[in-house]
Amino acid sequence: MALNDAAKAVGAVGAAMRDHVLLPAQEMAKLGKAAQPVLTHAEGIYVYAEDGRRLIDGPAGMWCAQVGYGRREIVDAMAHQAMVLPYASPWYMASSPAARLAQKIATLTPGDLNRIFFTTGGSTAVDSALRFSEFYNNVLGRPQKKRIIVRYDGYHGSTALTAACTGRTGNWPNFDIEQDRISFLSSPNPRHAGNRSQEAFLDDLVQEFEDRIESLGPDTIAAFLAEPILASGGVIIPPKGYHARFKAICEKHDILYISDEVVTGFGRCGEWFASEKVFGVVPDIITFAKGVTSGYVPLGGLAISEAVLARISGENARGSWFTNGYTYSNQPVACAAALANIELMEREGIVDQAREMADHFAAALASLRDLPGVAETRSVGLVGCVQCLLDPTRADGTAEDKAFTLKIDERCFELGLIVRPLGDLCVISPPLIISRAQIDDMVAIMRQAITEVGAAHGLTAKE
Ligand code: PMP
Repeated sequence: MALNDAAKAVGAVGAAMRDHVLLPAQEMAKLGKAAQPVLTHAEGIYVYAEDGRRLIDGPAGMWCAQVGYGRREIVDAMAHQAMVLPYASPWYMASSPAARLAQKIATLTPGDLNRIFFTTGGSTAVDSALRFSEFYNNVLGRPQKKRIIVRYDGYHGSTALTAACTGRTGNWPNFDIEQDRISFLSSPNPRHAGNRSQEAFLDDLVQEFEDRIESLGPDTIAAFLAEPILASGGVIIPPKGYHARFKAICEKHDILYISDEVVTGFGRCGEWFASEKVFGVVPDIITFAKGVTSGYVPLGGLAISEAVLARISGENARGSWFTNGYTYSNQPVACAAALANIELMEREGIVDQAREMADHFAAALASLRDLPGVAETRSVGLVGCVQCLLDPTRADGTAEDKAFTLKIDERCFELGLIVRPLGDLCVISPPLIISRAQIDDMVAIMRQAITEVGAAHGLTAKE
Protein backbone atom coordinates (compact mmCIF):
# COMPACT_ATOMS: atom_id res chain seq x y z
CA MET A 1 0.00 0.00 0.00
CA ALA A 2 1.34 3.47 -0.87
CA LEU A 3 2.07 5.75 2.08
CA ASN A 4 -0.87 8.01 1.24
CA ASP A 5 -3.26 5.09 1.19
CA ALA A 6 -1.91 3.95 4.55
CA ALA A 7 -2.49 7.42 5.99
CA LYS A 8 -6.06 7.42 4.66
CA ALA A 9 -6.67 3.98 6.19
CA VAL A 10 -5.54 5.28 9.58
CA GLY A 11 -7.79 8.30 9.13
CA ALA A 12 -10.63 5.83 8.78
CA VAL A 13 -9.75 4.49 12.22
CA GLY A 14 -10.38 7.87 13.82
CA ALA A 15 -13.69 8.12 12.01
CA ALA A 16 -14.76 4.62 13.03
CA MET A 17 -13.91 5.34 16.67
CA ARG A 18 -15.80 8.63 16.57
CA ASP A 19 -18.85 7.05 14.96
CA HIS A 20 -19.09 3.73 16.77
CA VAL A 21 -17.14 3.55 20.05
CA LEU A 22 -18.44 4.78 23.40
CA LEU A 23 -15.35 5.83 25.32
CA PRO A 24 -14.85 5.20 29.07
CA ALA A 25 -14.75 8.97 29.56
CA GLN A 26 -17.05 10.53 26.99
CA GLU A 27 -18.27 14.11 27.01
CA MET A 28 -21.78 13.37 25.76
CA ALA A 29 -22.22 16.75 24.02
CA LYS A 30 -19.39 15.69 21.73
CA LEU A 31 -20.57 12.12 21.09
CA GLY A 32 -20.04 11.42 17.39
CA LYS A 33 -18.51 14.87 16.85
CA ALA A 34 -14.94 14.87 18.16
CA ALA A 35 -12.29 12.37 17.10
CA GLN A 36 -9.40 11.29 19.31
CA PRO A 37 -5.82 11.32 18.11
CA VAL A 38 -5.09 7.96 16.50
CA LEU A 39 -2.00 6.03 17.53
CA THR A 40 -0.50 3.65 15.02
CA HIS A 41 2.36 1.98 16.87
CA ALA A 42 4.71 2.29 19.82
CA GLU A 43 8.30 1.55 20.76
CA GLY A 44 10.03 1.94 24.13
CA ILE A 45 8.63 5.04 25.84
CA TYR A 46 7.29 6.50 22.57
CA VAL A 47 3.95 6.21 20.82
CA TYR A 48 3.41 7.33 17.22
CA ALA A 49 0.43 9.28 15.91
CA GLU A 50 -1.08 8.78 12.46
CA ASP A 51 0.62 11.89 11.13
CA GLY A 52 3.92 10.19 11.94
CA ARG A 53 4.63 12.33 15.02
CA ARG A 54 6.51 10.71 17.88
CA LEU A 55 5.15 11.40 21.38
CA ILE A 56 6.68 10.57 24.75
CA ASP A 57 4.10 8.52 26.65
CA GLY A 58 4.18 10.57 29.86
CA PRO A 59 1.40 8.65 31.70
CA ALA A 60 2.60 5.20 30.47
CA GLY A 61 -0.81 4.60 28.93
CA MET A 62 -2.92 4.67 32.10
CA TRP A 63 -0.06 4.25 34.62
CA CYS A 64 0.56 0.78 33.27
CA ALA A 65 3.22 0.47 30.53
CA GLN A 66 6.04 -0.37 32.98
CA VAL A 67 8.46 -2.09 30.58
CA GLY A 68 7.54 0.06 27.59
CA TYR A 69 6.32 -0.97 24.19
CA GLY A 70 7.54 -3.50 21.66
CA ARG A 71 8.89 -6.06 24.14
CA ARG A 72 9.19 -9.22 22.10
CA GLU A 73 9.51 -11.49 25.16
CA ILE A 74 5.98 -10.68 26.30
CA VAL A 75 4.50 -10.98 22.83
CA ASP A 76 6.20 -14.34 22.24
CA ALA A 77 5.00 -15.68 25.59
CA MET A 78 1.43 -14.68 24.77
CA ALA A 79 1.58 -16.15 21.27
CA HIS A 80 2.99 -19.41 22.56
CA GLN A 81 0.35 -19.68 25.29
CA ALA A 82 -2.46 -18.83 22.86
CA MET A 83 -1.25 -21.68 20.65
CA VAL A 84 -0.77 -24.39 23.28
CA LEU A 85 -3.60 -23.59 25.72
CA PRO A 86 -5.51 -20.32 25.26
CA TYR A 87 -8.11 -21.07 27.91
CA ALA A 88 -8.67 -23.31 30.91
CA SER A 89 -11.80 -23.16 33.04
CA PRO A 90 -10.86 -21.74 36.43
CA TRP A 91 -13.68 -23.80 37.95
CA TYR A 92 -12.08 -27.17 37.47
CA MET A 93 -8.81 -26.90 35.53
CA ALA A 94 -5.37 -25.70 36.59
CA SER A 95 -3.08 -24.12 34.04
CA SER A 96 0.64 -23.76 34.31
CA PRO A 97 0.83 -19.96 33.77
CA ALA A 98 -1.72 -19.18 36.52
CA ALA A 99 -0.03 -21.52 38.99
CA ARG A 100 3.44 -20.20 38.27
CA LEU A 101 2.29 -16.58 38.30
CA ALA A 102 0.55 -16.93 41.67
CA GLN A 103 3.67 -18.58 43.10
CA LYS A 104 5.83 -15.79 41.69
CA ILE A 105 3.62 -12.94 42.93
CA ALA A 106 3.58 -14.51 46.40
CA THR A 107 7.36 -14.01 46.51
CA LEU A 108 6.94 -10.29 45.70
CA THR A 109 4.13 -9.42 48.12
CA PRO A 110 4.89 -8.47 51.72
CA GLY A 111 4.23 -10.64 54.78
CA ASP A 112 2.06 -13.71 54.38
CA LEU A 113 0.02 -12.41 51.42
CA ASN A 114 0.57 -15.65 49.60
CA ARG A 115 -2.83 -16.58 48.15
CA ILE A 116 -3.73 -14.94 44.84
CA PHE A 117 -7.14 -14.52 43.20
CA PHE A 118 -6.90 -13.40 39.57
CA THR A 119 -9.39 -11.06 37.94
CA THR A 120 -9.72 -9.18 34.66
CA GLY A 121 -8.40 -5.78 35.76
CA GLY A 122 -8.22 -3.31 38.62
CA SER A 123 -11.94 -2.68 39.16
CA THR A 124 -12.69 -6.38 39.38
CA ALA A 125 -9.70 -6.84 41.71
CA VAL A 126 -10.99 -4.24 44.17
CA ASP A 127 -14.58 -5.45 43.75
CA SER A 128 -13.42 -8.97 44.57
CA ALA A 129 -11.47 -7.78 47.61
CA LEU A 130 -14.58 -6.04 48.93
CA ARG A 131 -16.76 -9.05 48.21
CA PHE A 132 -14.14 -11.15 49.99
CA SER A 133 -14.52 -8.92 53.06
CA GLU A 134 -18.28 -9.58 53.01
CA PHE A 135 -17.77 -13.31 52.63
CA TYR A 136 -15.14 -13.33 55.39
CA ASN A 137 -17.46 -11.74 57.91
CA ASN A 138 -20.38 -13.93 56.90
CA VAL A 139 -18.30 -17.05 57.47
CA LEU A 140 -17.11 -15.63 60.79
CA GLY A 141 -20.76 -15.29 61.81
CA ARG A 142 -20.82 -11.49 61.96
CA PRO A 143 -23.19 -10.52 59.13
CA GLN A 144 -23.52 -6.98 60.47
CA LYS A 145 -19.78 -6.24 60.01
CA LYS A 146 -20.04 -4.97 56.42
CA ARG A 147 -19.29 -1.26 56.18
CA ILE A 148 -16.37 -0.04 54.10
CA ILE A 149 -14.35 3.02 55.08
CA VAL A 150 -12.72 4.99 52.24
CA ARG A 151 -11.38 8.50 51.66
CA TYR A 152 -12.45 11.50 49.62
CA ASP A 153 -10.21 11.76 46.54
CA GLY A 154 -9.77 7.96 46.48
CA TYR A 155 -10.43 6.05 43.26
CA HIS A 156 -11.03 2.31 43.14
CA GLY A 157 -12.71 1.43 39.86
CA SER A 158 -15.89 1.39 37.84
CA THR A 159 -17.96 -1.59 38.96
CA ALA A 160 -21.06 -0.64 40.96
CA LEU A 161 -19.36 -1.41 44.27
CA THR A 162 -15.98 0.13 43.50
CA ALA A 163 -17.60 3.23 41.99
CA ALA A 164 -19.52 3.58 45.25
CA CYS A 165 -16.15 3.74 47.01
CA THR A 166 -14.86 6.49 44.76
CA GLY A 167 -14.20 9.66 46.69
CA ARG A 168 -13.99 11.80 43.58
CA THR A 169 -17.35 13.39 44.18
CA GLY A 170 -17.51 14.81 40.65
CA ASN A 171 -18.18 11.26 39.46
CA TRP A 172 -21.21 10.79 41.70
CA PRO A 173 -24.02 12.72 40.01
CA ASN A 174 -23.67 10.77 36.76
CA PHE A 175 -24.91 7.49 38.18
CA ASP A 176 -27.17 6.21 40.94
CA ILE A 177 -24.57 5.11 43.41
CA GLU A 178 -25.58 3.01 46.42
CA GLN A 179 -23.42 4.26 49.26
CA ASP A 180 -25.34 3.06 52.31
CA ARG A 181 -22.48 0.87 53.46
CA ILE A 182 -19.68 3.25 52.45
CA SER A 183 -18.26 5.87 54.78
CA PHE A 184 -15.90 8.61 53.60
CA LEU A 185 -13.02 10.09 55.58
CA SER A 186 -11.18 13.32 54.73
CA SER A 187 -8.66 13.28 51.94
CA PRO A 188 -5.15 13.03 53.41
CA ASN A 189 -4.05 15.83 51.09
CA PRO A 190 -1.17 17.66 52.80
CA ARG A 191 -2.29 20.89 51.12
CA HIS A 192 -5.45 20.71 53.22
CA ALA A 193 -3.47 21.09 56.44
CA GLY A 194 -4.06 24.85 56.36
CA ASN A 195 -2.32 26.41 59.38
CA ARG A 196 -1.64 23.04 60.99
CA SER A 197 1.73 21.28 60.89
CA GLN A 198 1.77 18.01 58.94
CA GLU A 199 1.99 16.15 62.28
CA ALA A 200 -1.07 17.95 63.64
CA PHE A 201 -2.90 17.33 60.34
CA LEU A 202 -2.11 13.62 60.63
CA ASP A 203 -3.29 13.56 64.24
CA ASP A 204 -6.60 15.04 63.10
CA LEU A 205 -6.96 12.48 60.30
CA VAL A 206 -6.31 9.66 62.76
CA GLN A 207 -8.77 11.13 65.24
CA GLU A 208 -11.41 11.35 62.53
CA PHE A 209 -10.93 7.64 61.77
CA GLU A 210 -11.20 6.71 65.43
CA ASP A 211 -14.28 8.88 65.90
CA ARG A 212 -15.90 7.34 62.83
CA ILE A 213 -15.30 3.82 64.09
CA GLU A 214 -16.73 4.80 67.44
CA SER A 215 -19.84 6.40 65.93
CA LEU A 216 -20.56 3.63 63.40
CA GLY A 217 -19.53 0.88 65.78
CA PRO A 218 -16.48 -1.32 65.12
CA ASP A 219 -18.77 -4.35 64.85
CA THR A 220 -20.30 -2.85 61.69
CA ILE A 221 -17.04 -2.16 59.81
CA ALA A 222 -15.51 -4.80 57.54
CA ALA A 223 -12.72 -2.98 55.76
CA PHE A 224 -10.63 0.11 55.30
CA LEU A 225 -9.83 0.49 51.59
CA ALA A 226 -6.97 2.81 50.65
CA GLU A 227 -4.53 3.52 47.84
CA PRO A 228 -1.00 4.13 49.19
CA ILE A 229 -0.95 7.26 47.01
CA LEU A 230 -4.32 8.58 45.89
CA ALA A 231 -3.47 8.44 42.21
CA SER A 232 -6.47 9.45 40.07
CA GLY A 233 -7.66 11.71 42.91
CA GLY A 234 -4.58 13.89 42.35
CA VAL A 235 -1.29 12.06 43.10
CA ILE A 236 -1.90 12.77 46.78
CA ILE A 237 0.87 11.55 49.06
CA PRO A 238 -0.46 11.28 52.63
CA PRO A 239 1.57 12.68 55.56
CA LYS A 240 4.43 10.48 56.74
CA GLY A 241 3.27 7.70 59.05
CA TYR A 242 -0.38 7.87 57.90
CA HIS A 243 -0.66 4.27 56.69
CA ALA A 244 1.02 2.71 59.73
CA ARG A 245 -1.26 4.57 62.13
CA PHE A 246 -4.38 3.61 60.19
CA LYS A 247 -3.25 -0.01 60.04
CA ALA A 248 -2.77 -0.12 63.83
CA ILE A 249 -6.33 1.14 64.30
CA CYS A 250 -7.65 -1.49 61.88
CA GLU A 251 -5.87 -4.21 63.85
CA LYS A 252 -7.36 -2.98 67.10
CA HIS A 253 -10.90 -3.27 65.71
CA ASP A 254 -10.48 -6.39 63.54
CA ILE A 255 -11.03 -4.36 60.37
CA LEU A 256 -9.41 -5.64 57.16
CA TYR A 257 -6.84 -3.24 55.72
CA ILE A 258 -7.10 -3.43 51.91
CA SER A 259 -4.31 -1.66 50.08
CA ASP A 260 -5.29 -0.80 46.52
CA GLU A 261 -1.99 -1.05 44.67
CA VAL A 262 -3.48 -1.07 41.18
CA VAL A 263 -1.35 1.97 40.34
CA THR A 264 1.48 1.73 42.89
CA GLY A 265 2.25 -1.97 42.39
CA PHE A 266 4.81 -3.53 40.08
CA GLY A 267 7.57 -1.00 40.45
CA ARG A 268 5.73 2.29 40.03
CA CYS A 269 6.99 3.53 43.42
CA GLY A 270 10.42 1.92 43.10
CA GLU A 271 9.43 -1.35 44.84
CA TRP A 272 7.42 -4.32 43.66
CA PHE A 273 4.70 -3.18 46.07
CA ALA A 274 4.64 0.15 47.87
CA SER A 275 2.65 -0.79 50.99
CA GLU A 276 5.45 -2.20 53.09
CA LYS A 277 8.69 -0.97 51.57
CA VAL A 278 7.60 2.61 50.88
CA PHE A 279 4.80 3.16 53.41
CA GLY A 280 5.63 0.74 56.22
CA VAL A 281 2.49 -1.42 56.36
CA VAL A 282 1.77 -5.06 55.67
CA PRO A 283 -1.90 -5.02 54.61
CA ASP A 284 -4.36 -7.90 54.90
CA ILE A 285 -5.12 -7.73 51.19
CA ILE A 286 -3.34 -6.05 48.27
CA THR A 287 -5.09 -5.45 44.95
CA PHE A 288 -3.06 -5.14 41.75
CA ALA A 289 -3.52 -4.82 37.95
CA LYS A 290 -2.00 -2.54 35.28
CA GLY A 291 1.78 -3.04 35.72
CA VAL A 292 1.38 -6.79 36.30
CA THR A 293 1.29 -7.18 32.49
CA SER A 294 2.64 -3.72 31.62
CA GLY A 295 -0.71 -3.25 29.90
CA TYR A 296 -0.06 -5.83 27.17
CA VAL A 297 -3.26 -7.67 28.10
CA PRO A 298 -5.89 -7.16 30.84
CA LEU A 299 -5.22 -8.85 34.19
CA GLY A 300 -5.69 -7.97 37.83
CA GLY A 301 -5.84 -9.73 41.12
CA LEU A 302 -5.63 -9.69 44.87
CA ALA A 303 -3.16 -11.17 47.28
CA ILE A 304 -4.71 -12.29 50.56
CA SER A 305 -3.01 -12.93 53.89
CA GLU A 306 -2.72 -16.57 54.97
CA ALA A 307 -3.62 -15.61 58.54
CA VAL A 308 -6.86 -14.03 57.31
CA LEU A 309 -7.70 -17.10 55.23
CA ALA A 310 -6.89 -19.44 58.11
CA ARG A 311 -9.82 -17.96 60.04
CA ILE A 312 -12.33 -19.09 57.39
CA SER A 313 -10.83 -22.21 55.85
CA GLY A 314 -10.08 -25.79 56.87
CA GLU A 315 -11.71 -26.55 60.19
CA ASN A 316 -12.94 -22.93 60.32
CA ALA A 317 -14.72 -23.07 56.94
CA ARG A 318 -18.17 -23.73 58.44
CA GLY A 319 -19.30 -25.33 55.19
CA SER A 320 -18.73 -22.17 53.16
CA TRP A 321 -17.88 -21.78 49.47
CA PHE A 322 -16.11 -18.68 48.14
CA THR A 323 -18.01 -18.00 44.91
CA ASN A 324 -16.81 -14.99 42.96
CA GLY A 325 -16.84 -16.58 39.56
CA TYR A 326 -15.09 -14.96 36.66
CA THR A 327 -14.84 -16.87 33.38
CA TYR A 328 -11.47 -15.19 32.90
CA SER A 329 -9.92 -15.76 36.33
CA ASN A 330 -6.51 -17.42 35.78
CA GLN A 331 -6.71 -16.65 32.02
CA PRO A 332 -3.65 -18.52 30.67
CA VAL A 333 -2.60 -16.00 27.98
CA ALA A 334 -2.87 -13.10 30.43
CA CYS A 335 -0.96 -15.02 33.11
CA ALA A 336 1.75 -15.96 30.58
CA ALA A 337 2.09 -12.28 29.63
CA ALA A 338 2.42 -11.34 33.30
CA LEU A 339 5.06 -14.01 33.92
CA ALA A 340 7.09 -12.81 30.92
CA ASN A 341 6.67 -9.20 32.07
CA ILE A 342 7.90 -9.97 35.60
CA GLU A 343 10.81 -12.06 34.30
CA LEU A 344 11.78 -9.17 32.04
CA MET A 345 11.55 -6.69 34.90
CA GLU A 346 13.75 -8.92 37.05
CA ARG A 347 16.30 -9.62 34.32
CA GLU A 348 16.71 -5.95 33.46
CA GLY A 349 16.48 -4.73 37.06
CA ILE A 350 13.64 -2.40 36.08
CA VAL A 351 12.26 -1.94 39.61
CA ASP A 352 15.73 -1.04 40.92
CA GLN A 353 16.13 1.31 37.98
CA ALA A 354 12.84 3.04 38.83
CA ARG A 355 13.98 3.42 42.45
CA GLU A 356 17.33 4.83 41.37
CA MET A 357 15.70 7.21 38.88
CA ALA A 358 13.23 8.57 41.45
CA ASP A 359 15.50 11.33 42.78
CA HIS A 360 16.33 12.56 39.30
CA PHE A 361 12.63 12.51 38.37
CA ALA A 362 11.69 14.46 41.51
CA ALA A 363 14.47 17.01 40.94
CA ALA A 364 13.55 17.43 37.27
CA LEU A 365 9.91 18.13 38.17
CA ALA A 366 11.01 20.43 41.01
CA SER A 367 13.12 22.44 38.55
CA LEU A 368 9.81 23.72 37.13
CA ARG A 369 8.91 25.43 40.41
CA ASP A 370 10.57 28.67 39.30
CA LEU A 371 7.88 29.09 36.65
CA PRO A 372 4.88 31.29 37.38
CA GLY A 373 1.77 29.14 37.45
CA VAL A 374 3.55 26.17 39.05
CA ALA A 375 2.30 25.86 42.63
CA GLU A 376 3.87 22.54 43.54
CA THR A 377 5.54 19.43 42.19
CA ARG A 378 5.46 16.08 43.97
CA SER A 379 6.36 12.48 43.25
CA VAL A 380 7.08 9.05 44.67
CA GLY A 381 9.15 6.69 42.57
CA LEU A 382 8.10 7.37 38.99
CA VAL A 383 4.66 8.79 39.60
CA GLY A 384 4.46 12.54 39.92
CA CYS A 385 2.67 15.71 39.02
CA VAL A 386 2.97 19.42 38.50
CA GLN A 387 0.17 21.41 40.09
CA CYS A 388 -0.66 24.47 38.03
CA LEU A 389 -2.50 27.28 39.78
CA LEU A 390 -2.88 30.84 38.59
CA ASP A 391 -2.80 31.76 42.29
CA PRO A 392 -0.30 29.37 43.93
CA THR A 393 -1.58 30.04 47.45
CA ARG A 394 -4.85 28.20 46.73
CA ALA A 395 -5.05 24.66 48.18
CA ASP A 396 -7.15 23.36 45.29
CA GLY A 397 -7.61 24.51 41.73
CA THR A 398 -10.61 26.48 40.52
CA ALA A 399 -12.31 25.99 37.14
CA GLU A 400 -9.99 28.70 35.80
CA ASP A 401 -6.90 26.81 37.03
CA LYS A 402 -8.19 23.62 35.42
CA ALA A 403 -8.69 25.37 32.07
CA PHE A 404 -5.16 26.81 32.38
CA THR A 405 -3.72 23.35 33.10
CA LEU A 406 -5.60 21.77 30.21
CA LYS A 407 -4.04 24.33 27.86
CA ILE A 408 -0.60 23.35 29.17
CA ASP A 409 -1.37 19.69 28.56
CA GLU A 410 -2.55 20.46 25.04
CA ARG A 411 0.60 22.46 24.31
CA CYS A 412 2.73 19.57 25.66
CA PHE A 413 0.94 17.29 23.22
CA GLU A 414 1.74 19.62 20.32
CA LEU A 415 5.36 19.66 21.44
CA GLY A 416 5.61 15.85 21.61
CA LEU A 417 4.68 14.83 25.15
CA ILE A 418 1.49 13.17 26.37
CA VAL A 419 0.53 14.39 29.83
CA ARG A 420 -2.45 13.13 31.77
CA PRO A 421 -4.71 16.10 32.50
CA LEU A 422 -6.22 15.76 35.95
CA GLY A 423 -7.94 18.95 37.06
CA ASP A 424 -5.17 21.37 38.01
CA LEU A 425 -2.48 18.69 37.67
CA CYS A 426 -0.23 17.63 34.84
CA VAL A 427 0.35 14.00 35.79
CA ILE A 428 3.45 12.14 34.65
CA SER A 429 4.04 8.44 35.36
CA PRO A 430 6.33 7.32 32.56
CA PRO A 431 7.32 3.80 31.59
CA LEU A 432 9.80 2.59 34.22
CA ILE A 433 12.49 2.07 31.58
CA ILE A 434 12.79 5.81 31.03
CA SER A 435 16.34 7.19 31.00
CA ARG A 436 17.66 10.35 32.64
CA ALA A 437 17.96 12.06 29.27
CA GLN A 438 14.36 11.15 28.41
CA ILE A 439 13.15 12.56 31.74
CA ASP A 440 15.01 15.76 30.90
CA ASP A 441 13.34 15.82 27.46
CA MET A 442 9.90 15.53 29.09
CA VAL A 443 10.59 18.28 31.56
CA ALA A 444 12.04 20.58 28.86
CA ILE A 445 8.76 20.25 26.95
CA MET A 446 6.76 20.96 30.08
CA ARG A 447 8.91 24.04 30.78
CA GLN A 448 8.24 25.41 27.31
CA ALA A 449 4.52 24.68 27.49
CA ILE A 450 4.05 26.19 30.96
CA THR A 451 6.09 29.26 30.02
CA GLU A 452 4.12 29.89 26.83
CA VAL A 453 0.68 29.26 28.30
CA GLY A 454 1.61 31.25 31.43
CA ALA A 455 2.68 34.20 29.27
CA ALA A 456 -0.61 34.00 27.36
CA HIS A 457 -2.37 34.28 30.75
CA GLY A 458 -0.29 37.33 31.65
CA LEU A 459 1.78 35.56 34.32
CA THR A 460 5.13 37.19 34.95
CA ALA A 461 8.32 35.55 36.23
CA LYS A 462 8.45 34.68 39.94
CA GLU A 463 10.48 37.03 42.17
N1 PMP B 1 -7.83 1.14 41.64
C1 PMP B 1 -7.03 2.19 41.35
C2 PMP B 1 -6.18 2.76 42.43
C3 PMP B 1 -7.00 2.71 40.05
O1 PMP B 1 -6.24 3.78 39.79
C4 PMP B 1 -7.78 2.09 39.05
C5 PMP B 1 -7.76 2.57 37.60
N2 PMP B 1 -7.06 3.67 37.30
C6 PMP B 1 -8.59 1.02 39.41
C7 PMP B 1 -8.58 0.56 40.70
C8 PMP B 1 -9.45 0.34 38.37
O2 PMP B 1 -8.67 -0.39 37.50
P1 PMP B 1 -9.21 -0.80 36.05
O3 PMP B 1 -9.36 0.47 35.28
O4 PMP B 1 -8.14 -1.71 35.53
O5 PMP B 1 -10.49 -1.50 36.22
